[in-house]
Amino acid sequence: MQQDHDIIIVGGGMVGAALAARLGHAGFSIGLVERDDAPTAPSGDYDLRISSLNARSLAFIKASGTALPEERSCPFRHIDVFNQDGSGHSLFSAEESGMEDFGIFVENLTLQYALWQRLEQLPSVTCYTHCAPLTTISATSARLLELDNGKTLSARLIVGADGAQSTLRELAGISVSSYDYHQLAMIINVETELPQQDVSWQCFTPTGPLAMLPLPGQRASLVWYDSDDAIKDREQLDDEALKTAIETAFPTRLGKLTRIVARASFPIKRQHAQRYIGKRLALIGDAAHVVHPLAGQGLNIGLHDADTLAEIIIQGRDPGDYVNLLRFECQRRAANQAMIAATDSFHHLFTGAKPLRQLGDLSLQLAERFPLAKRMMMQQANGLNPFKRR
Ligand SMILES: Cc1cc2nc3c(=O)[nH]c(=O)nc-3n(C[C@H](O)[C@H](O)[C@H](O)COP(=O)(O)OP(=O)(O)OC[C@H]3O[C@@H](n4cnc5c(N)ncnc54)[C@H](O)[C@@H]3O)c2cc1C
Repeated sequence: MQQDHDIIIVGGGMVGAALAARLGHAGFSIGLVERDDAPTAPSGDYDLRISSLNARSLAFIKASGTALPEERSCPFRHIDVFNQDGSGHSLFSAEESGMEDFGIFVENLTLQYALWQRLEQLPSVTCYTHCAPLTTISATSARLLELDNGKTLSARLIVGADGAQSTLRELAGISVSSYDYHQLAMIINVETELPQQDVSWQCFTPTGPLAMLPLPGQRASLVWYDSDDAIKDREQLDDEALKTAIETAFPTRLGKLTRIVARASFPIKRQHAQRYIGKRLALIGDAAHVVHPLAGQGLNIGLHDADTLAEIIIQGRDPGDYVNLLRFECQRRAANQAMIAATDSFHHLFTGAKPLRQLGDLSLQLAERFPLAKRMMMQQANGLNPFKRR
Protein backbone atom coordinates (compact mmCIF):
# COMPACT_ATOMS: atom_id res chain seq x y z
CA MET A 1 0.00 0.00 0.00
CA GLN A 2 1.23 3.50 -0.83
CA GLN A 3 1.55 6.17 1.89
CA ASP A 4 1.16 9.78 0.73
CA HIS A 5 2.87 12.76 2.37
CA ASP A 6 3.48 16.40 1.48
CA ILE A 7 7.20 15.93 1.94
CA ILE A 8 9.45 12.90 2.49
CA ILE A 9 12.83 13.44 4.10
CA VAL A 10 15.43 10.70 3.70
CA GLY A 11 17.90 10.73 6.62
CA GLY A 12 16.98 11.50 10.23
CA GLY A 13 20.39 12.91 11.24
CA MET A 14 20.53 16.40 12.73
CA VAL A 15 19.76 18.20 9.46
CA GLY A 16 16.96 15.91 8.24
CA ALA A 17 15.31 15.71 11.67
CA ALA A 18 15.51 19.51 12.04
CA LEU A 19 13.75 20.03 8.70
CA ALA A 20 11.12 17.41 9.62
CA ALA A 21 10.49 19.14 12.96
CA ARG A 22 10.22 22.62 11.39
CA LEU A 23 7.84 21.52 8.62
CA GLY A 24 5.86 19.19 10.92
CA HIS A 25 5.49 22.12 13.34
CA ALA A 26 4.11 24.18 10.42
CA GLY A 27 1.48 21.45 9.80
CA PHE A 28 2.88 19.64 6.73
CA SER A 29 2.48 15.89 6.47
CA ILE A 30 6.04 14.53 6.71
CA GLY A 31 7.49 11.05 6.19
CA LEU A 32 11.00 10.71 7.68
CA VAL A 33 12.98 7.71 6.42
CA GLU A 34 15.97 6.62 8.57
CA ARG A 35 18.00 3.47 8.01
CA ASP A 36 19.08 3.24 11.67
CA ASP A 37 17.23 3.14 15.00
CA ALA A 38 15.66 6.25 16.48
CA PRO A 39 18.38 7.92 18.63
CA THR A 40 18.50 7.07 22.32
CA ALA A 41 18.83 9.57 25.18
CA PRO A 42 22.44 10.57 25.87
CA SER A 43 23.66 9.85 29.39
CA GLY A 44 26.93 9.62 31.34
CA ASP A 45 30.13 10.73 29.61
CA TYR A 46 29.87 13.22 26.77
CA ASP A 47 29.65 11.72 23.31
CA LEU A 48 32.67 12.13 21.02
CA ARG A 49 30.87 13.95 18.24
CA ILE A 50 30.38 17.57 19.28
CA SER A 51 29.26 20.46 17.05
CA SER A 52 29.06 24.19 17.40
CA LEU A 53 25.64 25.70 16.66
CA ASN A 54 25.56 29.35 15.66
CA ALA A 55 22.82 31.94 16.15
CA ARG A 56 20.89 31.19 12.95
CA SER A 57 21.01 27.42 13.57
CA LEU A 58 19.76 27.86 17.14
CA ALA A 59 16.92 30.14 15.98
CA PHE A 60 15.90 27.56 13.37
CA ILE A 61 15.83 24.73 15.93
CA LYS A 62 13.81 26.89 18.31
CA ALA A 63 11.32 27.72 15.53
CA SER A 64 10.46 24.01 15.33
CA GLY A 65 9.46 23.98 19.01
CA THR A 66 12.52 21.88 19.96
CA ALA A 67 14.18 22.52 23.34
CA LEU A 68 17.84 21.63 23.89
CA PRO A 69 18.85 20.51 27.41
CA GLU A 70 21.09 23.23 28.86
CA GLU A 71 23.02 20.82 31.08
CA ARG A 72 24.57 19.06 28.07
CA SER A 73 25.55 22.15 26.09
CA CYS A 74 28.18 24.82 26.57
CA PRO A 75 27.82 28.44 25.35
CA PHE A 76 31.01 30.12 24.15
CA ARG A 77 31.73 33.84 24.00
CA HIS A 78 35.28 33.99 22.64
CA ILE A 79 37.15 32.38 19.77
CA ASP A 80 40.92 32.58 20.02
CA VAL A 81 42.91 31.80 16.88
CA PHE A 82 46.70 31.80 17.01
CA ASN A 83 49.82 30.40 15.48
CA GLN A 84 51.99 27.94 17.40
CA ASP A 85 55.11 30.10 16.93
CA GLY A 86 53.33 33.23 18.21
CA SER A 87 53.56 35.09 14.88
CA GLY A 88 49.81 35.61 14.43
CA HIS A 89 46.95 35.94 16.90
CA SER A 90 43.35 37.09 16.79
CA LEU A 91 40.78 37.01 19.59
CA PHE A 92 37.13 37.27 18.55
CA SER A 93 34.68 38.29 21.25
CA ALA A 94 30.89 37.89 20.99
CA GLU A 95 30.33 41.17 22.83
CA GLU A 96 32.53 43.08 20.35
CA SER A 97 30.60 41.42 17.52
CA GLY A 98 27.29 42.66 18.94
CA MET A 99 26.18 39.21 20.14
CA GLU A 100 25.57 37.72 23.58
CA ASP A 101 27.51 34.58 22.62
CA PHE A 102 28.77 32.85 19.50
CA GLY A 103 26.46 29.91 20.09
CA ILE A 104 26.84 26.62 21.89
CA PHE A 105 28.77 23.40 21.68
CA VAL A 106 26.46 20.43 21.89
CA GLU A 107 26.80 16.69 21.38
CA ASN A 108 25.44 15.62 17.99
CA LEU A 109 23.46 12.92 19.80
CA THR A 110 21.88 15.40 22.23
CA LEU A 111 20.67 17.56 19.34
CA GLN A 112 19.45 14.61 17.27
CA TYR A 113 17.64 13.10 20.28
CA ALA A 114 15.95 16.41 21.16
CA LEU A 115 14.74 16.76 17.56
CA TRP A 116 13.36 13.20 17.48
CA GLN A 117 11.59 13.83 20.82
CA ARG A 118 9.94 16.82 19.14
CA LEU A 119 8.96 14.67 16.11
CA GLU A 120 7.16 12.27 18.45
CA GLN A 121 4.93 15.15 19.59
CA LEU A 122 3.98 16.14 16.04
CA PRO A 123 0.94 14.22 14.73
CA SER A 124 1.68 15.07 11.09
CA VAL A 125 5.14 13.39 11.16
CA THR A 126 5.59 9.67 10.52
CA CYS A 127 9.05 8.16 11.12
CA TYR A 128 9.99 5.07 9.10
CA THR A 129 13.09 3.56 10.75
CA HIS A 130 15.29 0.61 9.68
CA CYS A 131 14.67 1.23 6.00
CA ALA A 132 16.33 2.93 3.05
CA PRO A 133 15.33 3.96 -0.47
CA LEU A 134 15.65 1.46 -3.30
CA THR A 135 14.29 3.46 -6.23
CA THR A 136 12.65 6.79 -6.88
CA ILE A 137 10.71 8.06 -9.88
CA SER A 138 9.04 11.36 -10.48
CA ALA A 139 5.58 11.89 -11.95
CA THR A 140 3.95 15.26 -12.76
CA SER A 141 2.53 16.07 -9.36
CA ALA A 142 4.44 13.69 -7.06
CA ARG A 143 7.58 11.61 -6.63
CA LEU A 144 7.52 7.97 -5.56
CA LEU A 145 10.02 6.36 -3.20
CA GLU A 146 10.27 2.60 -2.99
CA LEU A 147 11.85 1.42 0.28
CA ASP A 148 13.82 -1.76 0.97
CA ASN A 149 11.14 -2.91 3.48
CA GLY A 150 8.55 -3.29 0.70
CA LYS A 151 6.76 0.03 1.41
CA THR A 152 6.18 2.68 -1.25
CA LEU A 153 5.82 6.32 -0.25
CA SER A 154 4.80 9.28 -2.36
CA ALA A 155 5.20 13.03 -1.82
CA ARG A 156 5.21 16.31 -3.69
CA LEU A 157 8.85 16.78 -2.66
CA ILE A 158 11.54 14.32 -1.53
CA VAL A 159 14.49 15.77 0.37
CA GLY A 160 17.82 13.94 0.66
CA ALA A 161 19.41 14.57 4.06
CA ASP A 162 21.14 11.20 4.13
CA GLY A 163 24.71 12.38 4.61
CA ALA A 164 27.90 12.46 2.56
CA GLN A 165 27.28 9.03 0.98
CA SER A 166 23.67 9.97 0.08
CA THR A 167 21.70 7.14 -1.56
CA LEU A 168 19.03 9.58 -2.73
CA ARG A 169 21.66 11.69 -4.49
CA GLU A 170 22.94 8.58 -6.25
CA LEU A 171 19.43 7.43 -7.22
CA ALA A 172 18.79 10.89 -8.68
CA GLY A 173 22.00 10.63 -10.75
CA ILE A 174 23.61 13.70 -9.16
CA SER A 175 27.41 13.53 -9.14
CA VAL A 176 29.81 15.23 -6.72
CA SER A 177 33.21 16.87 -6.96
CA SER A 178 35.44 15.97 -4.04
CA TYR A 179 38.90 16.55 -2.64
CA ASP A 180 40.76 14.52 -0.03
CA TYR A 181 42.91 16.64 2.33
CA HIS A 182 44.89 13.48 3.28
CA GLN A 183 44.41 14.43 6.89
CA LEU A 184 42.61 12.82 9.79
CA ALA A 185 40.97 14.64 12.67
CA MET A 186 41.51 12.80 15.94
CA ILE A 187 38.81 13.79 18.41
CA ILE A 188 39.67 13.21 22.05
CA ASN A 189 37.29 13.96 24.90
CA VAL A 190 39.25 14.80 28.03
CA GLU A 191 38.85 15.93 31.60
CA THR A 192 41.23 18.67 32.69
CA GLU A 193 42.70 20.04 35.92
CA LEU A 194 41.79 23.56 34.84
CA PRO A 195 38.17 24.61 34.26
CA GLN A 196 37.62 25.19 30.53
CA GLN A 197 36.19 28.68 30.17
CA ASP A 198 33.75 30.04 27.62
CA VAL A 199 36.47 30.28 24.99
CA SER A 200 37.06 27.96 22.08
CA TRP A 201 40.59 28.09 20.73
CA GLN A 202 42.42 26.89 17.67
CA CYS A 203 46.22 26.79 17.37
CA PHE A 204 47.63 26.50 13.85
CA THR A 205 50.75 24.39 13.33
CA PRO A 206 52.48 23.49 10.04
CA THR A 207 51.03 19.94 10.27
CA GLY A 208 47.44 20.99 11.04
CA PRO A 209 45.37 22.79 13.68
CA LEU A 210 45.00 21.81 17.34
CA ALA A 211 41.59 22.83 18.63
CA MET A 212 39.88 22.93 22.02
CA LEU A 213 36.09 22.97 22.18
CA PRO A 214 34.82 23.62 25.71
CA LEU A 215 32.32 21.25 27.32
CA PRO A 216 30.50 21.91 30.59
CA GLY A 217 32.70 21.68 33.70
CA GLN A 218 36.32 20.62 33.54
CA ARG A 219 35.87 18.85 30.24
CA ALA A 220 36.89 19.56 26.68
CA SER A 221 36.75 18.06 23.24
CA LEU A 222 40.17 18.26 21.59
CA VAL A 223 40.61 18.02 17.84
CA TRP A 224 44.06 17.09 16.57
CA TYR A 225 44.43 17.44 12.79
CA ASP A 226 47.45 15.74 11.25
CA SER A 227 48.58 13.52 8.38
CA ASP A 228 46.93 10.10 8.05
CA ASP A 229 50.14 8.35 9.14
CA ALA A 230 50.78 10.55 12.19
CA ILE A 231 47.22 10.09 13.48
CA LYS A 232 47.30 6.34 12.81
CA ASP A 233 50.50 6.12 14.94
CA ARG A 234 48.82 8.16 17.70
CA GLU A 235 45.79 5.86 17.64
CA GLN A 236 48.11 3.05 18.84
CA LEU A 237 49.08 4.92 22.03
CA ASP A 238 47.54 3.85 25.33
CA ASP A 239 45.74 6.53 27.38
CA GLU A 240 48.80 7.45 29.49
CA ALA A 241 51.04 7.85 26.42
CA LEU A 242 48.34 9.80 24.57
CA LYS A 243 47.94 12.12 27.58
CA THR A 244 51.69 12.86 27.49
CA ALA A 245 51.61 13.41 23.71
CA ILE A 246 48.72 15.90 24.09
CA GLU A 247 50.37 17.76 26.98
CA THR A 248 53.54 18.08 24.88
CA ALA A 249 51.92 19.14 21.60
CA PHE A 250 48.97 21.28 22.74
CA PRO A 251 49.39 24.87 24.03
CA THR A 252 50.19 25.07 27.76
CA ARG A 253 46.90 26.90 28.41
CA LEU A 254 45.16 23.49 28.21
CA GLY A 255 46.92 22.47 31.44
CA LYS A 256 47.18 18.92 32.76
CA LEU A 257 44.72 16.22 31.73
CA THR A 258 43.12 14.10 34.42
CA ARG A 259 41.41 11.60 32.10
CA ILE A 260 41.11 10.58 28.47
CA VAL A 261 37.39 9.87 28.16
CA ALA A 262 37.05 8.72 24.55
CA ARG A 263 38.75 9.08 21.16
CA ALA A 264 38.20 8.38 17.47
CA SER A 265 39.52 9.64 14.12
CA PHE A 266 37.70 10.96 11.08
CA PRO A 267 38.95 11.50 7.50
CA ILE A 268 38.88 15.08 6.22
CA LYS A 269 37.57 15.86 2.77
CA ARG A 270 35.44 18.37 0.96
CA GLN A 271 32.66 17.50 -1.42
CA HIS A 272 30.06 19.43 -3.38
CA ALA A 273 27.08 18.05 -5.33
CA GLN A 274 26.89 19.25 -8.96
CA ARG A 275 23.29 20.31 -8.28
CA TYR A 276 21.08 20.41 -5.19
CA ILE A 277 17.77 19.86 -6.94
CA GLY A 278 15.95 17.64 -9.42
CA LYS A 279 12.31 17.08 -10.32
CA ARG A 280 10.49 17.22 -6.97
CA LEU A 281 13.78 16.53 -5.22
CA ALA A 282 16.25 18.56 -3.14
CA LEU A 283 19.48 17.79 -1.28
CA ILE A 284 20.48 19.42 2.01
CA GLY A 285 23.26 19.07 4.60
CA ASP A 286 26.18 16.72 3.97
CA ALA A 287 24.24 15.11 1.11
CA ALA A 288 24.78 18.40 -0.76
CA HIS A 289 28.17 19.54 0.62
CA VAL A 290 30.94 18.55 3.00
CA VAL A 291 33.38 21.23 4.23
CA HIS A 292 36.66 21.02 6.13
CA PRO A 293 35.58 20.98 9.80
CA LEU A 294 38.28 23.42 11.01
CA ALA A 295 35.79 26.31 11.22
CA GLY A 296 33.00 24.18 12.76
CA GLN A 297 30.52 25.11 10.02
CA GLY A 298 29.44 21.86 8.28
CA LEU A 299 26.36 21.26 10.39
CA ASN A 300 25.56 24.97 10.55
CA ILE A 301 25.39 25.39 6.79
CA GLY A 302 23.33 22.18 6.59
CA LEU A 303 20.83 23.66 9.06
CA HIS A 304 20.86 26.92 7.06
CA ASP A 305 19.92 24.86 3.95
CA ALA A 306 17.03 23.37 5.93
CA ASP A 307 16.01 26.82 7.18
CA THR A 308 15.98 28.33 3.66
CA LEU A 309 14.12 25.35 2.17
CA ALA A 310 11.55 25.37 5.00
CA GLU A 311 10.85 29.09 4.53
CA ILE A 312 10.40 28.65 0.76
CA ILE A 313 8.07 25.66 1.29
CA ILE A 314 6.03 27.42 3.99
CA GLN A 315 5.53 30.48 1.74
CA GLY A 316 4.73 28.50 -1.43
CA ARG A 317 1.74 26.42 -2.55
CA ASP A 318 3.43 23.31 -3.91
CA PRO A 319 6.49 22.13 -1.90
CA GLY A 320 8.00 20.60 -5.06
CA ASP A 321 7.48 23.61 -7.33
CA TYR A 322 10.58 23.74 -9.55
CA VAL A 323 10.88 27.53 -9.58
CA ASN A 324 10.91 27.55 -5.77
CA LEU A 325 13.50 24.78 -5.74
CA LEU A 326 15.64 26.88 -8.08
CA ARG A 327 15.42 29.77 -5.61
CA PHE A 328 16.61 27.40 -2.88
CA GLU A 329 19.54 26.22 -5.00
CA CYS A 330 20.59 29.77 -5.95
CA GLN A 331 20.56 31.02 -2.36
CA ARG A 332 22.26 28.06 -0.76
CA ARG A 333 24.83 27.18 -3.43
CA ALA A 334 26.36 30.66 -3.28
CA ALA A 335 26.60 30.61 0.54
CA ASN A 336 27.92 27.05 0.70
CA GLN A 337 30.45 27.61 -2.07
CA ALA A 338 31.77 30.62 -0.13
CA MET A 339 32.13 28.49 3.02
CA ILE A 340 33.91 25.70 1.10
CA ALA A 341 36.32 28.27 -0.37
CA ALA A 342 36.91 29.96 3.02
CA THR A 343 37.65 26.73 4.92
CA ASP A 344 39.83 25.52 2.05
CA SER A 345 41.89 28.72 2.12
CA PHE A 346 42.23 28.53 5.94
CA HIS A 347 43.59 25.01 5.54
CA HIS A 348 46.10 25.96 2.84
CA LEU A 349 47.09 29.28 4.46
CA PHE A 350 47.87 27.79 7.83
CA THR A 351 49.22 24.34 6.94
CA GLY A 352 50.78 25.04 3.55
CA ALA A 353 54.33 26.04 2.60
CA LYS A 354 56.07 28.79 4.65
CA PRO A 355 55.15 31.77 2.37
CA LEU A 356 51.49 30.75 2.59
CA ARG A 357 51.72 30.44 6.36
CA GLN A 358 53.21 33.95 6.52
CA LEU A 359 50.19 35.17 4.59
CA GLY A 360 48.01 33.37 7.15
CA ASP A 361 49.82 35.19 10.00
CA LEU A 362 49.27 38.48 8.20
CA SER A 363 45.52 37.79 7.89
CA LEU A 364 45.30 37.23 11.67
CA GLN A 365 47.24 40.46 12.32
CA LEU A 366 44.97 42.37 9.94
CA ALA A 367 41.85 40.98 11.63
CA GLU A 368 43.21 42.36 14.94
CA ARG A 369 43.82 45.81 13.36
CA PHE A 370 40.33 46.20 11.81
CA PRO A 371 37.69 45.57 14.49
CA LEU A 372 34.78 46.43 12.16
CA ALA A 373 35.90 43.84 9.60
CA LYS A 374 36.33 41.33 12.43
CA ARG A 375 32.83 42.07 13.73
CA MET A 376 31.30 41.66 10.25
CA MET A 377 33.21 38.42 9.67
CA MET A 378 31.89 36.91 12.90
CA GLN A 379 28.31 37.98 12.18
CA GLN A 380 28.57 36.42 8.71
CA ALA A 381 30.00 33.20 10.23
CA ASN A 382 27.03 33.12 12.58
CA GLY A 383 24.58 33.20 9.71
CA LEU A 384 23.58 36.80 10.58
CA ASN A 385 23.37 39.72 8.18
CA PRO A 386 26.45 41.87 8.99
CA PHE A 387 24.80 44.95 7.45
CA LYS A 388 21.76 44.83 9.76
CA ARG A 389 21.80 47.05 12.86
CA ARG A 390 21.22 45.17 16.12
C1 LIG B 1 35.71 15.85 12.89
C2 LIG B 1 34.47 16.63 12.55
C3 LIG B 1 34.07 17.70 13.35
C4 LIG B 1 32.96 18.48 13.02
N1 LIG B 1 32.61 19.55 13.81
C5 LIG B 1 31.58 20.35 13.44
C6 LIG B 1 31.22 21.54 14.19
O1 LIG B 1 31.79 21.85 15.23
N2 LIG B 1 30.20 22.31 13.73
C7 LIG B 1 29.53 22.01 12.59
O2 LIG B 1 28.63 22.79 12.19
N3 LIG B 1 29.82 20.88 11.87
C8 LIG B 1 30.83 20.06 12.25
N4 LIG B 1 31.12 18.94 11.52
C9 LIG B 1 30.28 18.60 10.38
C10 LIG B 1 28.99 17.91 10.82
O3 LIG B 1 29.30 16.81 11.66
C11 LIG B 1 28.21 17.43 9.59
O4 LIG B 1 28.11 18.49 8.67
C12 LIG B 1 26.81 16.99 10.02
O5 LIG B 1 26.87 15.85 10.85
C13 LIG B 1 25.95 16.66 8.80
O6 LIG B 1 24.66 16.31 9.23
P1 LIG B 1 23.65 15.61 8.23
O7 LIG B 1 22.39 15.40 9.02
O8 LIG B 1 23.60 16.34 6.95
O9 LIG B 1 24.32 14.20 7.89
P2 LIG B 1 24.61 12.96 8.83
O10 LIG B 1 24.97 13.40 10.21
O11 LIG B 1 25.59 12.09 8.11
O12 LIG B 1 23.19 12.22 8.94
C14 LIG B 1 22.69 11.45 7.87
C15 LIG B 1 21.56 10.58 8.39
O13 LIG B 1 21.01 9.85 7.29
C16 LIG B 1 20.93 8.47 7.62
N5 LIG B 1 21.11 7.74 6.37
C17 LIG B 1 22.24 7.58 5.66
N6 LIG B 1 22.00 6.87 4.55
C18 LIG B 1 20.68 6.58 4.56
C19 LIG B 1 19.82 5.86 3.68
N7 LIG B 1 20.29 5.31 2.56
N8 LIG B 1 18.52 5.77 3.99
C20 LIG B 1 18.02 6.32 5.13
N9 LIG B 1 18.80 7.01 6.01
C21 LIG B 1 20.10 7.13 5.72
C22 LIG B 1 22.06 8.24 8.62
O14 LIG B 1 21.80 7.09 9.42
C23 LIG B 1 22.00 9.55 9.42
O15 LIG B 1 21.04 9.48 10.45
C24 LIG B 1 32.22 18.16 11.85
C25 LIG B 1 32.60 17.05 11.05
C26 LIG B 1 33.73 16.32 11.38
C27 LIG B 1 34.14 15.16 10.49
